[in-house]
Amino acid sequence: MYYNENTILFLDGKFVKAVDARIDPFSQTLHYGYGVFEGIRAYQTINGTKIFKPHEHFERLKHSCNLLGIPMTYSVEELTQLSYQLLEKNGLSNAYLRPLVTSGPNMSLTAPKEVSVMIAAWDWGKYFSHASLRVCISSFQRPNPKSLKVEAKACGHYVNSIMATMEAKERGFDEALMLDMNGFVAEGPGANFFYEKDNVLYTPPLGNILPGITRHTVLEICRELDIIVEEKYFRPEELFEADSAFFCGTAAEITTIESIEGQAFQKPWKKSLGVVIQEAYQSIVLDKSYSYVIV
Ligand code: PMP
Repeated sequence: MYYNENTILFLDGKFVKAVDARIDPFSQTLHYGYGVFEGIRAYQTINGTKIFKPHEHFERLKHSCNLLGIPMTYSVEELTQLSYQLLEKNGLSNAYLRPLVTSGPNMSLTAPKEVSVMIAAWDWGKYFSHASLRVCISSFQRPNPKSLKVEAKACGHYVNSIMATMEAKERGFDEALMLDMNGFVAEGPGANFFYEKDNVLYTPPLGNILPGITRHTVLEICRELDIIVEEKYFRPEELFEADSAFFCGTAAEITTIESIEGQAFQKPWKKSLGVVIQEAYQSIVLDKSYSYVIV
């Protein structure tokens, strides 16, 4: 699904075949999860292939490296250029890009001196198999910012995301919604969360969540369209009074949430603010203009 014998990767200054690529078996990333990555989408737009917000993603990659003390010397501009070249070499247009910074061989618990920088790309359609999700409240909390740099998109953090997703599926749900260490709603295992109540959108503030680039785009769309949005802490019980909700993320884009713990939202998605955001987001990533009149 991710590669075949013709797939090209960028790895440490060269474009190589994925089947020939080698990551050190003594990499700290493999043993301890000490590495960082990004998830980026490219779209076939009316103006050709466009990577959506590459600067924001590569700035976050560099910021993640800094937060973890991982030395990485590529500039945002270089990484952007390399990503476009990689798409071209693989004949991809609508694609998902996965930059990954792995540590060199180091079995001690100190910062690595050498790192490997890889960028992979593949055709990744919809992230979720369902158009609307039945979500449960996870028993797994998001990591405490006093134990990890939660703003970093670090490889090891995703053990937490995998545990939450597995639990949700075992319980017969499509996806998990996780709380922070204080019991407030935080985010999904791989996406940020918004809910609607009385024509206002609410989302958790930064601090205990990954600062999603899609989340930021949603806030920009709201500003543009005069949709009121409030960043606040809220408990899961508030969601049972909500009108609608959605997840947002690069892979997930804007995904409808149908129910939480089996309780369905009352407002039809087609009449929700979420659908307005969903349509605007699709227009933006495809380089099309959008407009919306609140009726
Ligand atoms: N939260 C988590 C935990 C994620 O893994 C992601 C996906 N990167 C997001 C939120 C959404 O971030 P973005 O919109 O930048 O993809």
